[in-house]
Amino acid sequence: MTLGVIADDFTGATDVASMLVRAGMRTVQVIGVPDDTQGALAPEADAVVVALKTRTVPADEAIGQSLAALRWLQAAGMRQCYFKYCSTFDSTPAGNIGPVTEALLDALGADFTIACPAFPENGRTIYRGHLFVGDELLSDSGMRHHPLTPMLEANLVRVLQAQSRRHVGLLRHDAVVQGPAAVRERIGALRHEGVSIAIADAIDNADLRSLAAACVDLKLLTAGSGLALGLPAVYAERGWLTPDARAAELDPAPGGAAVLAGSCSLATNAQVQHWLHAGRPAFAVDPRALARGEPVAAAALAWAQAQPPQQPVLISATASAQALADVQSELGAQRAGALVETCLAQIARGLVERGVRRLVVAGGETSGAVVQALGVTRLRIGAAICPGVPWTQAEGRPPGEALHLALKSGNFGGPDFFDEALRSSVTA
Ligand code: ADP
Repeated sequence: MTLGVIADDFTGATDVASMLVRAGMRTVQVIGVPDDTQGALAPEADAVVVALKTRTVPADEAIGQSLAALRWLQAAGMRQCYFKYCSTFDSTPAGNIGPVTEALLDALGADFTIACPAFPENGRTIYRGHLFVGDELLSDSGMRHHPLTPMLEANLVRVLQAQSRRHVGLLRHDAVVQGPAAVRERIGALRHEGVSIAIADAIDNADLRSLAAACVDLKLLTAGSGLALGLPAVYAERGWLTPDARAAELDPAPGGAAVLAGSCSLATNAQVQHWLHAGRPAFAVDPRALARGEPVAAAALAWAQAQPPQQPVLISATASAQALADVQSELGAQRAGALVETCLAQIARGLVERGVRRLVVAGGETSGAVVQALGVTRLRIGAAICPGVPWTQAEGRPPGEALHLALKSGNFGGPDFFDEALRSSVTA
């Protein structure tokens, strides 16, 4: 294994894995830290991404889980470690990006790393340490209203310094744009000034490639998924990796297909509307019926069974903002969310038992619940459907029983995403 990635959330893990596969690295994603402490069960892959859920948990918990992931990846023989967080640097003044980075540096015996959430293809760029989302500063973007991690400051040097004991500095664009040698020289100067973590400017993919090349000897990289696009070529140059043109190939998954939607994001609402307007078969999960104890999962499965074979179905709890607010005020947001997640997870299990082999799931938490219900602990990463969302294959199933999952974070994908996913799925 060349690269070990520790990701602070589930769909972010899939995002970075997809980036690596695109550039020819055979990549496996594991859900949580595997039990085998020696890394003996590490999969045959060039990169392994450990998907954690540590973005908003207390900092000491995030540190504990990240260090456990690090130890497992080290035991499995990784050459370089990558701490992956969100491209909008989602965190609070209490962490967890700073505390986890520092704990990883300590554990690796390293004194320097970069921090670069830039993802120019998705409009996230960094200039003079300031993060832009499209044309807006992070602090003017929708992220200022995020329910858990409102981002009110765009100067990432300030944001990260508030979370860190070590000295945070800036690796400016004028060095990055000159290429790897200039970046290495600047890193030398920053180290000399006592900087331990440098926010790295990057406004396009060339900048990310320059950073990847300059930082190949750092034990730890910390970044969004963007930086990963530059790594495979650098590893290949070192002789650590032979890029595999078939890295994204999955085994065919013949069988039925279905879409499960548990996200209420604007993008998912548009995707569900698109499906309904096309007159495609759809079943609505009603949280109030769940609260009344009605057997909604059984009804959904019976309905799905009665649809013409070869016709993918949509089963969705997706609701408009107003409808969601009404249900939440009636049932409580936590309770409604848990009821819906449990129901969709039961439906996923039932569908797979009935022969569905390609499952598109919309929603980060929903994806977590579905993957757990299906007992999936490892995902091989296939081709991207849209930026950040690849097809994946559940590992450990018998030959001929391949199960493909497309796990979509709520806000990703255009209105046609469900069809796009089903069209691009591999059945033979
Ligand atoms: P996203 O990726 O858009 O954030 P998630 O799946 O992470 O989507 O979160 C959506 C949450 O909303 C889940 O807990 C889900 O169960 C809940 N939910 C979905 N539909 C409804 C609904 N109609 N009423 C109440 N809660 C819902």
